[in-house]
Amino acid sequence: MRNVDVIVVGQGLAGTCLALELIRLSASVLVIDPAEPMTSSRIAAGLMTPVTGKRHVLAPDYFEWYAAAQQFYREFEKLASRQVLFLRDSLRAFQSPQERLEFEQNRMDLLPQLQGRLLEETDPLWGRVSAPYGGYLLPNVGQLDVAQFLDLAADLIARKAIRLVGQVDWSEVQFSEREVILPLEEVTARYVVACGGASDRLVPWFSHLGFLPAKGEILTLDNADWETESVIHGGIWIAPAPGRGLSVGSNYEWQQLDTIPTEAVRESILERMSRLIPDWNPQVLEHRAAVRPAMKDQRPVVGILPAQPRLAILNGLGSRGSLLAPWLSAQLAGLLIHAEPLDPRIKTPVS
Ligand SMILES: Cc1cc2nc3c(=O)[nH]c(=O)nc-3n(C[C@H](O)[C@H](O)[C@H](O)COP(=O)(O)OP(=O)(O)OC[C@H]3O[C@@H](n4cnc5c(N)ncnc54)[C@H](O)[C@@H]3O)c2cc1C
Repeated sequence: MRNVDVIVVGQGLAGTCLALELIRLSASVLVIDPAEPMTSSRIAAGLMTPVTGKRHVLAPDYFEWYAAAQQFYREFEKLASRQVLFLRDSLRAFQSPQERLEFEQNRMDLLPQLQGRLLEETDPLWGRVSAPYGGYLLPNVGQLDVAQFLDLAADLIARKAIRLVGQVDWSEVQFSEREVILPLEEVTARYVVACGGASDRLVPWFSHLGFLPAKGEILTLDNADWETESVIHGGIWIAPAPGRGLSVGSNYEWQQLDTIPTEAVRESILERMSRLIPDWNPQVLEHRAAVRPAMKDQRPVVGILPAQPRLAILNGLGSRGSLLAPWLSAQLAGLLIHAEPLDPRIKTPVS
């Protein structure tokens, strides 16, 4: 039997950031993940959008999350000698005169906070983007190249810790007062942490935590005919997919929780895209789907289970995994290794 401080189950954004943070704290770590190609993290566009929804809401803790994320990914880049975080202009087109009016009446304070500015419909920055009601520009919005980050991190974890390819069967996991045992993997640890994304809702330990996963689909488009280094929002979003073209997405589907792309969503994304960029007819290179691990209250859940003190969870990152995973991972790693209390704003698991 091997013995480590922490077993991390799942190596999506949650498990990867947690494992790297634990390694940084000099903890011994074992990470196990089946290396499936179609996971939420694998297909994510990696946008760290500060403002969401038609009401243009800025999350109250955005600046704290973003500072933590930027520092985390920049430190990672030094270790990996590769860039994974890109800073983009984000152009957001209003969808109606009402949306613009409401923004001007209620949300103008966002612009100085985020160093942004209003864009009239004639602004040359729009290029081929149709923005009949204008919009606004936010500079330096983060975009993580998630797939590359996960691959580079997997190599780093394999060098600095233990990385297994496989699937943990939670019914086999044994707990005692002082340790957790994974008999099939022949490993014991002080803690095991579930970072299994949406599939954790099916694990009896976590089924009561209020999961509401949402399937999303994303297209990769050929950029031969139109290139942009900006992220464009307007009914849909279009973003650079480093080395692959452009990504376009997405949708939210709560019933069919699978990884099968559908013709209806493809058509709907392409139709919204053609309204945003009317004279662009790119080739679809790839069409993928995965299930976001979201919660009913849209708040992540992080911490040790009161009913099982050797078992913790980091989940419910929803649409914001790239932005949230570093800050939440630092919090959980501090709790597990140094018994530091979690920030009181974090939602912890209940029994
Ligand atoms: C179309 C789409 C676009 C998105 N775009 C963005 C975006 O632009 N910006 C952003 O921040 N977020 C985006 N997201 C959301 C983002 O993907 C999630 O917030 C994030 O990936 C969740 O990471 P996770 O590690 O919690 O879960 P996952 O990515 O689902 O990872 C869980 C991992 O655990 C593994 N696993 C599960 N069970 C076990 C087990 N029993 N044993 C071992 N391993 C296990 C899985 O195989 C998987 O590798 C997008 C999501 C989708 C679907």
